Amino acid sequence: MRLLLIKEATEKNVRDLIERLQWMGFSAQTHQENGYYTISIDGGYSAWMQCEAVASQLPFVSKILPSNRPFKLVSRSEGMERVTLDINGVKLGGGYRSVIAGPCAIESEEQIHLIAEKVAHAGANFLRGGAFKPRTSPYSFQGLGVEGLRYLHAAGKEHGLVTVSEVMSVEAIEKMYPYVDVFQVGSRSMQNFDLLKELGKVDKPILLKRGFSATYLELLMSAEYILNGGNERVILCERGVRTFETYTRNTLDLTAIPVLQDLSFLPVIADPSHGTGWSRFVSPMAKGAFAVGADAVMIEVHPEPKKSLSDPEQALDFAEFELLMNEMELIAPNIRKQTAALC
Ligand code: PEP
Ligand code: MN
Repeated sequence: MRLLLIKEATEKNVRDLIERLQWMGFSAQTHQENGYYTISIDGGYSAWMQCEAVASQLPFVSKILPSNRPFKLVSRSEGMERVTLDINGVKLGGGYRSVIAGPCAIESEEQIHLIAEKVAHAGANFLRGGAFKPRTSPYSFQGLGVEGLRYLHAAGKEHGLVTVSEVMSVEAIEKMYPYVDVFQVGSRSMQNFDLLKELGKVDKPILLKRGFSATYLELLMSAEYILNGGNERVILCERGVRTFETYTRNTLDLTAIPVLQDLSFLPVIADPSHGTGWSRFVSPMAKGAFAVGADAVMIEVHPEPKKSLSDPEQALDFAEFELLMNEMELIAPNIRKQTAALC
């Protein structure tokens, strides 16, 4: 990366700055261009990321020149607008906010139809539901596969909802294609580079979840794979990371929302269901996510959460979801407006 210094910076200022950068562990060189000093900093991705975080606080720095960012296609340069995606008529990003809701897993035709009806009525725009489930245990419910996706597709159509489901393998893309509007890449697959490359060739949006131990940079580099393949419609999703805290399932990193929106033009959403793992913490964190600027939230909803075949602790029931929609609307007043246009 390169730092552009202010015009008034003297030779001594530059020397002091280089010394300071070296003390911080970066190797740096000075150049002079058109009467301005610039400093280039060596090192790989992580040096770049650490340095960008502190560079603007350093004396005499006027600008960080983004040309050397390791993520080129997803990068947002100064003054660039954030993108608005149009997904089957539903807008997301660049000021348009939405709610994605549905069960962790599609369990039956009746279940997904009932959930679709209730979440659409409450004002959600997207219907989520896993058909190929990445379960920690091979003995847990693995999902209904393509049969489940048929139910999801029909329920989405009937209630005017955009459908979202997780794809776990390259081979599944073709099977899923007719039934999903948005392909979700789960936390465990964020660095399945073969899958990302293939999804780069798909003409549907990709909801890319942050790996539970992935840095912002690693998430952005994964998105870069998809854009590099030609698919520019990527949604970044903060879904919680592993920390020393074990009381909650994960630690929802709300800082990721403004940081990723600053670094990239892509929409950034939050998943407080997997981010907390407990239904009673989903509501405050969903509202928090909108308060810090999330473009959407993803909420797991189930008619009888305790009977859910996967993630029973974190699902909201219909009454809790409706209440949350009302509360979220106070923070993000436009979340329901698009629903009116759809119905
Ligand atoms: C999901 O959304 O269904 C899911 C499995 O989430 P994650 O990949 O974030 O664990
Ligand atoms: Mn789940």
